[in-house]
Amino acid sequence: MKGIFPIEKFRELQTPFYYYDTKVLRDTLACINKESQRYPNFHVHYAVKANANPKVLTIIRESGMGADCVSGGEVRAAIKSGFPADKVVFAGVGKSDWEINLALDYGIFCFNVESVPELEVINELAAAKGKVAHVAFRINPNVGAHTHANITTGLAENKFGISMQDMDHVIDLALELKNVKFIGLHFHIGSQILDMSDFVALCNRINELQERLYARRIIVEHINVGGGLGIDYSHPNRQPIPDFRHYFETYAEHLKLRPSQTLHFELGRAVVGQCGSLITRALYVKQGTNKKFAILDAGMTDLIRPALYQAFHKIENITSDEAVEAYDVVGPICESSDVFGKAIDLNQVKRGDLLALRSAGAYGEIMLLATIAANCPKDILRMN
Ligand SMILES: *Cc1c(COP(=O)(O)O)cnc(C)c1O
Repeated sequence: MKGIFPIEKFRELQTPFYYYDTKVLRDTLACINKESQRYPNFHVHYAVKANANPKVLTIIRESGMGADCVSGGEVRAAIKSGFPADKVVFAGVGKSDWEINLALDYGIFCFNVESVPELEVINELAAAKGKVAHVAFRINPNVGAHTHANITTGLAENKFGISMQDMDHVIDLALELKNVKFIGLHFHIGSQILDMSDFVALCNRINELQERLYARRIIVEHINVGGGLGIDYSHPNRQPIPDFRHYFETYAEHLKLRPSQTLHFELGRAVVGQCGSLITRALYVKQGTNKKFAILDAGMTDLIRPALYQAFHKIENITSDEAVEAYDVVGPICESSDVFGKAIDLNQVKRGDLLALRSAGAYGEIMLLATIAANCPKDILRMN
């Protein structure tokens, strides 16, 4: 198991760093292509916010996927990595004017619109450029997901999307506006979903909405069901590739598509989660009152998910075969929440050992403040 990392090379490197196993990534992409291409009207986009590392993006682009973006910085990163503009979709509840203008200039495939005022602004900005923007409406389907409360997005209480009651009104408005073209419906109910019945519930809701539209003789060209497929954080070696076959089958079986309709997916975590690890060194082992602490040179500033929403990452001591002991694994930051795991069994840790925090390819590196700043080129520093 430890053989999956080039440890001798790691020993010479400064820590911490993110390590991406490009074979795992390529195998995952090949599996997605194989399983989705069983259905000719399925199109998969990669949700760039999971990981916008330029090398990772390039490998994903080479697989032929489209890009799903939630900021202007991501739209730019996707285009720079060679994603064709006509395969880029742009979602998000708070699109700034500069972001909309940028996407209009690139001529992206579609804006996933999340409110009436946003629709009006897109129409106005497109008019100023003499363009017609393709829009899909992100509908909040009020479907729960069996996942962490902070990562459900499809409940009425969440900030995302347009409510089902408002759908007809928004469509009427879009049909009146001259500089937007209504082409589809968009959904995304949450992340790290492993229970396929959540996706079945979404399919049933979409079927209802489609019936409602059909009564008005509206058949949209595009249905986009977002992403959300989870990964096995407990067993990154046993299950490095998620069960894409079952995932696509679930939609094929439960979603009633009309022959002319295209179904879009936006997968993030399931694409990149398992290929990444955060590699870190043990700085100290400290004997506390009732426990031992393994103090690492990586902290919540390098991987924020555990501190932010108690996310679990498997931790391994990749340079020790000694007997297993329990440790609280912590970072160096002056915050009590800077903890990667409590009472974690690790091969005995000594100063200088290398540890891997596994399944860190998604929402890991991208959540570093520096990365976020690079992707959102706004002047956020002002001094008097
Ligand atoms: C985050 C996000 C995704 C990807 O979610 P995963 O859980 O990483 O698959 C897809 N679509 C939208 C609109 C998103 O915001």
